[in-house]
Amino acid sequence: MSDLRDLYQTVILDHYKKPRNFGRPAGADLSAEGVNPLCGDRVQVFARLEGDQLAAVGFEGSGCAISTAAASLMTQAVRGRTRKEVEELFARYHDMVAGAGATDPSLGKLEVLAGVREFPARVKCATLVWHALRAALDGSAERVTTE
Ligand code: ZN
Repeated sequence: MSDLRDLYQTVILDHYKKPRNFGRPAGADLSAEGVNPLCGDRVQVFARLEGDQLAAVGFEGSGCAISTAAASLMTQAVRGRTRKEVEELFARYHDMVAGAGATDPSLGKLEVLAGVREFPARVKCATLVWHALRAALDGSAERVTTE
C-alpha cells in the first residue's frame, strides 16, 4: 500500500511541477475562475465546445500541489467528453475524494488523488477546478468560490 502511495505522490508532484494543458487553448470562448480562499488556490479554466463535446480545455493559476495537479489531471481526463460525461465523471471523482465512494477504475489517472479523502480540508483543493469547469460550461458564473 505504501508503494502505491509513493507512486501517487510522484504523479501528483509531476503534474504540479509540469502542469499539462497550462494556458488558454486557441479558440477557447468559455471561461470561469475558481477561488479557494482557505488555501489560497486560484484557477482559471478555459474551454471550447464543439457541439456538446469538450474540444479543448486548459487552465492557468496558482495554488497548492493538490489543486494544481487536480487541474492538470482534469484537463487530460475531460477532453473529448460530452458535458453529460463530464458531469458523471465529476460525480464519481467527488465521491472518491470526499470519501463517500470507493475508487473506480473508470476514473483512470484521477485515482492518484484518492488519498485526499484522508485530509478533509484538501477536498476543496481537489474539486475547485471542477467547479470552475462546470461554471464555464454552463455559463452560470464567471467566478466560483469554495467559501
Ligand atoms: Zn489547496
